[in-house]
Amino acid sequence: MADSLDCEVLVVGAGPVGLLTTLLVAKAGIDVTLIEALPDIDDSPRAMAYGAPAVVELERAGIAEDARKNGMEPSDYDFRLRWITIDNKTISEFKPEDRIPGSFDAVICGQFQLAKIIQGHLSQHSSGKILFNHSLQDITESEDFVTATVQTPEGSKKITARYLVGADGGKSTVRKILDLGYDGFTLPQWLVACNVRYPFREHGFQRGQFIVHPQHFCMVGKIDPTGLYRVSYNEQENLTKEEVLANVHSKFEAIFPGPKPLSKDAYQIEVVSPYRIHQRSARAYRKQHSFLAGDAAHACSPFGGESLFSSSAPSVIADNRIPTGMGLTGGICDAGGLADCLIGVLRKGCDDSLLDKYAEIRRQKYQEITNPVSYGNTCALRDTNPETAATEAEPFRTMNTSPEARKKMLEGAYLLGHDFRQYWPQSKSTGEEDTHATPPLKAGTAGTNAML
Ligand SMILES: Cc1cc2nc3c(=O)[nH]c(=O)nc-3n(C[C@H](O)[C@H](O)[C@H](O)COP(=O)(O)OP(=O)(O)OC[C@H]3O[C@@H](n4cnc5c(N)ncnc54)[C@H](O)[C@@H]3O)c2cc1C
Repeated sequence: MADSLDCEVLVVGAGPVGLLTTLLVAKAGIDVTLIEALPDIDDSPRAMAYGAPAVVELERAGIAEDARKNGMEPSDYDFRLRWITIDNKTISEFKPEDRIPGSFDAVICGQFQLAKIIQGHLSQHSSGKILFNHSLQDITESEDFVTATVQTPEGSKKITARYLVGADGGKSTVRKILDLGYDGFTLPQWLVACNVRYPFREHGFQRGQFIVHPQHFCMVGKIDPTGLYRVSYNEQENLTKEEVLANVHSKFEAIFPGPKPLSKDAYQIEVVSPYRIHQRSARAYRKQHSFLAGDAAHACSPFGGESLFSSSAPSVIADNRIPTGMGLTGGICDAGGLADCLIGVLRKGCDDSLLDKYAEIRRQKYQEITNPVSYGNTCALRDTNPETAATEAEPFRTMNTSPEARKKMLEGAYLLGHDFRQYWPQSKSTGEEDTHATPPLKAGTAGTNAML
């Protein structure tokens, strides 16, 4: 049957997760087709910083350096991340001396630009192709393969594949067809993401900072060398979308450093997008020959940040190993893991049960790390008294008194990753996978480091 299939792997959704999965399996010579409903890659303002385990995956995919070139200038390589009060007093920070020796540099790059870079790399591999304007409508499972019904400008068509990957985002059609649920909750308040030009550095801000505040908690981070910043802030739940958009200036007035009142001429907005924050996961990440990855599998607050803690993750806090919990960071780890499992089964002689391991372990990572940490970090930004946080509130107090604790927090970020290549038969792991496997990566350990 396999010989008569249209492709070995069909990936649905050309977001960063679908693109990266496609690139990685194409690099291993697997015949892979990626379908995307839109005419091009979605350019809405979303991710811009990637946690340490995602940087490991971007490095071994050969993407990280291009992403850095796109999003960073020399001063952005400074290893520093701050938590501050709304009047820019430091509560806590990771400093250059906390950096894990030999660790990777951070990757800052807008999600759309990152996706475009992956697309460019994919175009160099003849075993992978992207079909835009192809929208998945239905999936039929057979004993050895899966058939996708796809709507195209030329009408409906069928694509058969040995395996199907649903990387089609939070509203995933794949997940709905497979009836895998999306359990959890949606926070009532808005998250407003703005791309804006303002001289933050002139007014004392640095590349990345979180503001701790009950109403105006937010993240301000530099996106690219042109001086574009991302400001993502919390907005009241009772506002309509129109009211949210009308209130942008007064939020900037509260959040921005520099002279007050803030002049509307002092900044230029490129884009504003209100979102809802979801803490949700599918009940399973596999059904027969189909898999979920990225937001299709799970969603979390982008305020999850890096290397802070969760009040609802006591086992993680107990030894101060504080992992990262942002959405695409986990999605990139899914992509690397699922690609390794598909390569294992399709090229390395591994049993199909390796793909069950993908589904179990990645879901466990969401349940035990991403969900509690991202939600806990969001609550910490909102519920901590900023004036006393530095000396009285955890984890800031510990961060401020113990360099060792800061180091453990940074190391803990790597717990979100998992190296599925350890399940490949040793005798078959030669040569070919090396292109996919630089640098060495041990499951769940901190060999490298990166930070917002
Ligand atoms: C404001 C904001 C800031 C964020 N910041 C960060 C950050 O800094 N770091 C971080 O790690 N995460 C961040 N995230 C989370 C991150 O944006 C998501 O986790 C990420 O978009 C998930 O990527 P994905 O590829 O899984 O899905 P998506 O990017 O949603 O891509 C899914 C794709 O599937 C396509 N599709 C959907 N249905 C179909 C269909 N039926 N057929 C074919 N194609 C289909 C869609 O058109 C889309 O192109 C942020 C999120 C938000 C909202």
